[in-house]
Amino acid sequence: MSSLQVEELCVAYGKIQALRGISLQVPSGRICALVGANGAGKTTALNAICGLRPLVGGRVLLDGRDIAAVPPHDRVTLGLVQVPEGRRIFGRLTVAENLAMGAFRRRAMRSELQADLDEVLTLFPRLRERMAQLSGTLSGGEQQMLAMGRAMMAKPSLLLLDEPSMGLAPRLVDQIFETVTAINRLGVTVLLVEQNAFMALEIAETAYVLQSGEVVLSGTGAALIDSEAVQEAYLG
Ligand code: ATP
Repeated sequence: MSSLQVEELCVAYGKIQALRGISLQVPSGRICALVGANGAGKTTALNAICGLRPLVGGRVLLDGRDIAAVPPHDRVTLGLVQVPEGRRIFGRLTVAENLAMGAFRRRAMRSELQADLDEVLTLFPRLRERMAQLSGTLSGGEQQMLAMGRAMMAKPSLLLLDEPSMGLAPRLVDQIFETVTAINRLGVTVLLVEQNAFMALEIAETAYVLQSGEVVLSGTGAALIDSEAVQEAYLG
């Protein structure tokens, strides 16, 4: 389990200021949600935390340590793992091969990897049935499960999830949120970006609302669900 602290993060695309000094706290072992409209800067925030976007200003601290000098692939080794928007699985590889890729950077014993694979397949029983199938032929929900399973094979201490419920039927959305809670119970800290604000706030202990690159509201998930501003803007 890791904690994440983001301090006054600023990111720009040329002259467009996508993040204007956002600060977030994700305590160890918790689920934190980041919600907001399209273009608010949620994906940019996750990419900056992973080191995939340069910072114009601010700091990212993992367990209290400034990780500015740590390149993205080494952040994965530190336990900071992202499941990107749109899944990005390897469509021409099988489910088993995609899961193995998740553990690519680990130096682990075969028996340890097998135990982790068993844990992932317990979280996602559907994947067990489809280990030999080409991933590109999976349904959208199965691809999301595979992307999350592959990330779990990297042994994250902090998992960043970018819109895991996007484009999924309601029944699968419920399943994905249940799995996020199950992953957290296994001892993984979660930062969850979601367009489905209501469900994200329901499972999150703490949450932040982003608007035009700024944090406009924060609090417990329960308090934000009850807040008039959030209800009007996001929950209808
Ligand atoms: P969405 O839910 O649509 O992904 P978001 O909250 O994740 O939205 P971002 O994708 O982080 O928002 O975008 C934040 C701002 O940065 C937007 O104004 C967007 O147009 C801009 N932006 C994002 N990516 C780029 C890019 N590669 N080049 C230029 N501007 C970008």
